[in-house]
Amino acid sequence: MMDLSYILNHLGEERSQYFSAVAPPMIQSSNFCFSDLKALRLGLENEYQEAFYTRGVNPTVSILRKKIAALEGAQDCLVLASGAAAITASVMSLLKAGDHVLCVSHPYNWAKHLFRDYLPRFDISCSFVDGTQIENFKAALTPKTRLIYLESPNTMTFELQDLRAVVAFARQNGLKTICDNSYSSPLAQKPLEYGVDLVVHSVTKYLNGHSDTVSGAICGNHDLISAIFKSEYMTLGAISSPMEAWLILRGMRTLELRLQRSSESTEYLVEYLQSHPKVAKVYYPFSKTHPQYELAKQQMRCSGGLFSVEFKTSSLANMEAFCNALKLFLLACSWGGYESLCFPIASLYNNEQANTKTHLPWNFVRFYCGIEDVKVLKDDLDQAMSCL
Ligand SMILES: *Cc1c(COP(=O)(O)O)cnc(C)c1O
Repeated sequence: MMDLSYILNHLGEERSQYFSAVAPPMIQSSNFCFSDLKALRLGLENEYQEAFYTRGVNPTVSILRKKIAALEGAQDCLVLASGAAAITASVMSLLKAGDHVLCVSHPYNWAKHLFRDYLPRFDISCSFVDGTQIENFKAALTPKTRLIYLESPNTMTFELQDLRAVVAFARQNGLKTICDNSYSSPLAQKPLEYGVDLVVHSVTKYLNGHSDTVSGAICGNHDLISAIFKSEYMTLGAISSPMEAWLILRGMRTLELRLQRSSESTEYLVEYLQSHPKVAKVYYPFSKTHPQYELAKQQMRCSGGLFSVEFKTSSLANMEAFCNALKLFLLACSWGGYESLCFPIASLYNNEQANTKTHLPWNFVRFYCGIEDVKVLKDDLDQAMSCL
């Protein structure tokens, strides 16, 4: 019985092993000992399966691995120190010097840094491709291409990729695929179902959901995940501690409730903003005006809590006044927690001139809708928009 509530509330929790405690224990131990040499030898041989040393397997982290794997419909999952670590470890596991990558044009910023600035040092090149059209991947393919890196949708402007079409193209050409699924969480989209090879998450966002830890995950089949475990995971050592895993397990109990609330409130705010005279454009994948609305409905079960707005305003100073007037939408990056957030692109501008830090305009604001009362959130936007 692998329904969602079973996964979130019970899967992986072997309570008889820890005094029948309802909440799992935090096994805050670096090391595990063995009764005799034969057991120690076996422990060494099974470092991927059994608790031996916490940089490898830790029982508290293992409960979390089982749950995230089950949510994504994956054979296995690794939990890492951050979403960025999950991206880096999964990408490095599939590449060697001389290889070429196709990456969607506006991925998460540090993924872009990895492909554009870091991997070229190791003779790995990358082409950034507008992933909304499958033809663009085909046109950018080279004999050296090994990997397609996807993020559907991304978390600023919400471009999607047709996962089924990209996977078909990748398989025809012997390429592996990775998809950053943070926006949707496994509840709204399961890229492995479309044949994507590895899914990465910023667990910091919806999965943990309480803005109190940074963590990441990689999901895939046994072969790919055990290969990452035996190489990048153990070598980079970017693990999640038992304490972090314990907090995330607690946060995930309410994943379904939080996502549902955040998604419904977002829909309400988007509808309100779309007809507001101070709004030039709303970006939201489940809006009928989104160019890939049909694909979003096909590929995703519901939206997340992110949306972006281009405001009608004549000056950066007014934009600044709007941001400063918001009381409930906290000015911050990140998203996926209980609290609503506002990330204004104006923070990358000192004046109205275009600059090299961003391709987005200064009147563009990315919002995240948390789990507060949506009427109060709307009133907050309403009063702040009088500054524009
Ligand atoms: C935040 C984020 C990441 C990075 O995750 P960290 O946990 O902050 O390292 C990666 N991808 C997306 C889409 C994100 O929003």
